[in-house]
Amino acid sequence: CGIVGYVGGKQAYPIIVDGLKKLEYRGYDSAGVALWSAHKINVFKKEGKVAALEEFVVDQNVFSTVGIGHTRWATHGEPSDRNAHPHYSKSENIAMIHNGIIENYASLKAELIKKGYEFKSDTDSEVLVNFIEDIKLNNNCTLEEAVRIALKRVTGAYVILLIDKDLPDTIIAARKGSPLVIGIGDHEHFLGSDASPMLAYTKEVVYINDYELAIVKPDELILKNLGNERVTPFVQKLDLDL
Ligand code: GLU
Repeated sequence: CGIVGYVGGKQAYPIIVDGLKKLEYRGYDSAGVALWSAHKINVFKKEGKVAALEEFVVDQNVFSTVGIGHTRWATHGEPSDRNAHPHYSKSENIAMIHNGIIENYASLKAELIKKGYEFKSDTDSEVLVNFIEDIKLNNNCTLEEAVRIALKRVTGAYVILLIDKDLPDTIIAARKGSPLVIGIGDHEHFLGSDASPMLAYTKEVVYINDYELAIVKPDELILKNLGNERVTPFVQKLDLDL
């Protein structure tokens, strides 16, 4: 029930794991991360606490400056390693995390199964990442555009973060009904369900609104609505010491 993302010049994994621990109070049953490195995405995920994920990852190569992390509160599919997020798209070119519920996932899933898609998890979320990839391939469009088209057909509540093997230094994020905060650092950006994962690094944050999509790079934060119009980010300075 929490999301964290990082894109910048620092190592992403420790920032993400630390951030997920700050969100533990929200409750969860499993945790995972996806890390981009040299046009490859590595996903590590585990049922249980963030500490179990850390133990699982201990001998793995987590070198990366772009990543997304998730704690899951299962709604569709039992708590398990395979239902934990992130979920890959079919080609494994895209990895996505999702908090919330995709209400019309069953009809989208049926559509995809007819096209030959197979699913590795029981989640509504894995349906969405494949739906997005299917749109991207069919329209030969960017990930950003595919997300926008997909979300117009989705009902439910979500915050999603995606990374794409072919998009270096970029996280695509969107929300409706689930919280998303983006922290502005020094040539880096942080994403979180709330500001706690980023407070050690920055006090400047943008609270993303429903039906907004963010393209987040180390030196750039672009916000758009689902009509593809630019929205000016409203930067707030937090006055907290946590
Ligand atoms: N509905 C998704 C699932 O069951 C996401 C749950 C969550 O918000 O963590 O995997």
